Amino acid sequence: MLELVEKLYENHDLTDGELKQLILTDDKAAEELLIKRADETRQKYYGKKVFLRGLIEISSFCKNNCLYCGIRHDNKNAQRYRLSREEILSCCENGYELGFRTFVMQGGEDAYYNDEFMCGIISEIKNKYPDCAVTLSLGERSGQSYKRMKEAGADRYLLRHETASDELYKKLHPNEMSLENRKKCLFNLKKLHYQVGAGFMVGAPFQTVENIVEDLRFLQDLQPQMIGIGPFIPHHDTPFKGEKQGTLELTLRLLGIIRLMFPKVLLPATTALGTISPIGRELGLKTGCNVIMPNLSPVKVRKKYDLYDNKICTGEEAAECRGCLQRRVKSVGYEIVSERGDFINA
Ligand code: SAH
Repeated sequence: MLELVEKLYENHDLTDGELKQLILTDDKAAEELLIKRADETRQKYYGKKVFLRGLIEISSFCKNNCLYCGIRHDNKNAQRYRLSREEILSCCENGYELGFRTFVMQGGEDAYYNDEFMCGIISEIKNKYPDCAVTLSLGERSGQSYKRMKEAGADRYLLRHETASDELYKKLHPNEMSLENRKKCLFNLKKLHYQVGAGFMVGAPFQTVENIVEDLRFLQDLQPQMIGIGPFIPHHDTPFKGEKQGTLELTLRLLGIIRLMFPKVLLPATTALGTISPIGRELGLKTGCNVIMPNLSPVKVRKKYDLYDNKICTGEEAAECRGCLQRRVKSVGYEIVSERGDFINA
């Protein structure tokens, strides 16, 4: 198993069979070597730097019905809210003070945030904070819409592909949604020169090791600048309420594998990883992650952006989060920097 880790470290690729073996291994020595090589790779390109992305959860309204998600349209118990232009700007102001140089506007698919609204707020943020990057994570939109928002100044777009298997995609989503359209959106975004983030949930219901290999192959095909993965965590008001959550071990293993396959990728230690283990994000950082996405949303809406159960950091002010993260990141030997943290092309 150690040879497989070394081979992946050197070639950034393995055969499907080898990938499966490495994903499923329980060999402790291989696990340790994977962590070591993932950390070396991350440090080679990004040193000890950890980039922050201030997450502003702009809307909990959503027209979709993804079976895993707590803010799915049919969840009658979900509490819905929308942030106004002024509220979003005040999150940015707060974030800028705290050293954030990337703002991520994320939300359910909510028609209220049409192109006019989004282009207005994007150009306002870019005018006020020319040294900051604006990232969007608003789901599937038309090519025209992505183009307008890019022209208004958006730099990046996060759209997890969720799974690259048609069969699994259909089990996780209602009939109206398709993997084909999701992929089309991702390739559109790349063509428009957004820095693109894709990704998937680890341990989603019905997911097999073959599906995970398909995800890695899709990512090789897309070549995104960012890859977001985190454990699936059931939400009590969804059809998947009785399903098992993804494990810490498998998520960390995949983070290490992804770092070796995509040496320069921007890789967040996600909030979901921090939710399934009190030191999940720290372990992620030690296994190749170099990004953290703290919550910048107003405290009064945080509990309402309820994608999965027990989500962490829904009680504190952004400033408290910043201090807590500073300590956590330092505790594993890395340092938070106040930079945009773009993908390195060189
Ligand atoms: N509407 C946007 C943003 C979705 S929320 C979009 O479609 O991209 C961001 C991510 O949260 C999703 O892509 C999904 O992978 C993740 N997520 C949703 N429900 C989850 C759950 N129950 N457990 C873990 N992650 C979840």
